[in-house]
Amino acid sequence: MATTPAEQAGTASAARTVKRVAVLPGDGIGPEVIAETVQLLEHVGARWGVRFEFSYGRIGGGAIDEDGEPLPAWVVDLCRGSDAVLLGAVGGPRWDRNPPHLRPEAGLLGLRKALGVYANLRPITVFPALLSSSPLREEVVAGADFLILRELTGGLYFGQPRGRVQEAEGTAVIDTLHYTEREVERILRLGFELARSRRGHLTSVDKANVLESSRLWREVAERLAPEYPDVTLQHLLVDNAAMQIVRNPRQFDVVVTENMFGDILSDEAAVITGSIGLLPSASLGESGPGLYEPVHGSAPDIAGTGRANPLAAFLTAAMMLRHSLGLPEAADAVEQAVAAVLADGLRTADIAREGEAALSCREMGDEVRRRIQGRDDV
Ligand code: NAD
Repeated sequence: MATTPAEQAGTASAARTVKRVAVLPGDGIGPEVIAETVQLLEHVGARWGVRFEFSYGRIGGGAIDEDGEPLPAWVVDLCRGSDAVLLGAVGGPRWDRNPPHLRPEAGLLGLRKALGVYANLRPITVFPALLSSSPLREEVVAGADFLILRELTGGLYFGQPRGRVQEAEGTAVIDTLHYTEREVERILRLGFELARSRRGHLTSVDKANVLESSRLWREVAERLAPEYPDVTLQHLLVDNAAMQIVRNPRQFDVVVTENMFGDILSDEAAVITGSIGLLPSASLGESGPGLYEPVHGSAPDIAGTGRANPLAAFLTAAMMLRHSLGLPEAADAVEQAVAAVLADGLRTADIAREGEAALSCREMGDEVRRRIQGRDDV
């Protein structure tokens, strides 16, 4: 089976039995879900004969309090020296009034930049057991299983010049959508590789009828396509893509797009699963460790109550096992164990329906760990 560059790196490192993971629990429920995830990984390690070496660092609010900045240099060094970085969540009301450079989110953006992670992967999976939580009709959403690949370091969010200028008619604003051909090619190439490792279908989303950047995007996609004869390439305009995600989400396998389109489409797609609290994400660079974080935030409203749902963090760990640590079988086992607890009707408070009993974060962790099947079990 074809592998992504990150997976090749992971497979190379699979030969080593020690995996170095930088762990940044962060704020709010971050430390709670990450503590369960570390235990899960210890369990996986015992089953697959791998030793995880966990090194802990601070990021976000906790780092502001302890180190005086949201991303201390020692934490960047710790992450760079690891095979992968596992992050909980950052933020909370306590730091909301801080100036921009002393806000928790600055730590997150700084880390993505420091690690050069240009590709954000967001799998969109609809668990059969949670179908009724989707805002879409069950028959529309059942079986949807796709991956949104978003370019993360270019485009409108980073282009220069930007800002406000005074013109004859008054204040005007400028944002710049800048991409180099190289940036476009590397994300599209990853899209083809990922499609090849899944069901072989790649949807490239652009606005080529209006934007020059999108015309280049489409040209590069067409140029690369003959190198991947096993992958079917389809182009969709972004407005149509937004419609198709709610009309027929099952048609997608891998969706690749630029930064802002990906930001919007990935949140739209997350909502159709009905369980935004269950979604993992991975951000990968050309080399160096990948950054793995659940999509949810620090949930300050439930922090410390034991009610956090650890499943998004577990699925995030599965992505880390697959894409950075060269342990795809272990990744499958974690994903299957999560699906199994849901199929067995086990719920944390956020996904329990009225009248259903809710497990604590720890209890849910125990249930998933109990269901992990190792290669010796089959
Ligand atoms: P949030 O995701 O933290 O919470 C939204 C709602 O979902 C809350 O009711 C919360 O209790 C619930 N929720 C979220 N994750 C849950 C889980 N694992 N288990 C059970 N319930 C869960 O989003 P928010 O309230 O908009 O933001 C809270 C803080 O988190 C803010 O400071 C925000 O900036 C930050 N944030 C951080 C990240 C990140 O670290 N990547 C992402 C989003 C928001």
